[in-house]
Amino acid sequence: MSDYRNDDENKELTSQTVADDHKTEDKREDEYEKYCYLCRRPESVAGKLIDMPGNIHICADCMQKTFDNLNQGGFGGMQFLDLSNLSNMGNIDMSRLMGMNDIPDKQKVKKKAAKPKKKEQEMTLATIPAPHKIKAMLDEYVIGQEYAKKVMSVAVYNHYKRVLTDSMDDIEIEKSNMLMVGPTGCGKTYIVKTIAKLLNVPLAITDATTLTEAGYIGDDVESVLSKLLAAADNDVEKAEKGIVFIDEIDKIAKKQNSNSRDVSGESVQQGLLKLLEGADVEVPVGSGSKNAMVPMTTVNTKNILFICGGAFPAIEDIIKARLNKQSSIGFRADLKDKYDKDPNILKKVTNEDLREFGMIPEFLGRLPVLFTLDALDKDMYIKILKEPKNAILKQYKKLLALDEVDLQFDDSAYEAIAEKALEKNTGARALRAIIEEFMLDIMYQIPRDDSIGRVIITGDYVNGKGNPIIELRGVEPMQIEACATKQS
Ligand code: ADP
Repeated sequence: MSDYRNDDENKELTSQTVADDHKTEDKREDEYEKYCYLCRRPESVAGKLIDMPGNIHICADCMQKTFDNLNQGGFGGMQFLDLSNLSNMGNIDMSRLMGMNDIPDKQKVKKKAAKPKKKEQEMTLATIPAPHKIKAMLDEYVIGQEYAKKVMSVAVYNHYKRVLTDSMDDIEIEKSNMLMVGPTGCGKTYIVKTIAKLLNVPLAITDATTLTEAGYIGDDVESVLSKLLAAADNDVEKAEKGIVFIDEIDKIAKKQNSNSRDVSGESVQQGLLKLLEGADVEVPVGSGSKNAMVPMTTVNTKNILFICGGAFPAIEDIIKARLNKQSSIGFRADLKDKYDKDPNILKKVTNEDLREFGMIPEFLGRLPVLFTLDALDKDMYIKILKEPKNAILKQYKKLLALDEVDLQFDDSAYEAIAEKALEKNTGARALRAIIEEFMLDIMYQIPRDDSIGRVIITGDYVNGKGNPIIELRGVEPMQIEACATKQS
């Protein structure tokens, strides 16, 4: 009996199922973002999309561009689309005819779960930390480099004072763009990153080697600002107070003895001049390159702090040559090899040496704060392993602590790691690789055995000559052979 429902009941049921279907459909649709049919950007990037018949969505930029083209008799003056005829198309769904109605899920971009937004505090004159405070905060993360940290703290403090005091009678404070000279892996990028994080300003890091003169393969100099804009969540006002770090700046030195056009060297320096100085620059939003489909915005670089860094290999020779030339003249004549063994020769670098290296004077003139960083020595490596707030060994200790294992390093282990890093000559970057190599076995073996309570890494183990000391829970310390399938 129950199978025979009257018509009304059936209708109600069908409409109920249809409504349910719609709900699940809507829910499913809700999980996916619409994207612009022309430029393919999702709604979260392109802004609110205009819904067109046939499940097509167009962003406001593309719509505007299309109308602009039509108004200007675009497409070679062809009467491409007569809008007055649109109404004649009646109910014909063009997209359906072309088979584009249902865009498969695999071509849609899934929405990211909305992150809870932290309330950000705007920096004001009263809240900029004083130089000694900036330096103290840097000290928690960056080992050594005392001079660099001091110079940067003062320069950054002055810069933001200048930014936040819009006008100061006739005296205009100059921009304190910086040029850092120091060997690879000594902490140049790390200091800049730490400062940006402490001050809560957007930071863009770019490699000068990727930049080329506009029109050539590679990134235009404006791409630097695109990155900054992206780091500031496309908030132009925020980006205009950000920091841009250009690494490997020595790679855009003028090419010596070259007859061809120097599109990745001198021309890039020329291109950067106006950014460094402060100018209104047209920047593509959300993309490194300008093209017809990318919206543009104007970013003023007057208040953006530019920091350039480079290792300037072999600049020591240029410095030595200059100093030797000076000292061999007249009564200041010195021994000719006086500077050959000077370990601090890099500290004597001047604009003149950098010009000789291939940087153009206009470029150097726009980076008034010039300073050097020290190469790391063994003691500094050991401190880098132990002391910074997020030191790499602390990270491993924390990982193992989650397995309730106490990881310890004895002094010989620190020494062995530091010595290995010195050999590699790639700065503190080498530390991670070295540690990862010998920690692999530990990280692999320890979770196997619940009875292990403590692991002590020794210098011999780091050098591949022995095993770590393993202490079992509630048992005396001993060396356990089984633990190490040693690295070769
Ligand atoms: P570069 O000078 O080539 O830019 P980085 O700043 O990228 O070198 O350094 C690489 C890594 O080495 C950093 O991420 C950081 O973890 C570590 N490091 C380098 N120098 C220091 C330092 N002085 N104090 C603490 N960590 C450092």
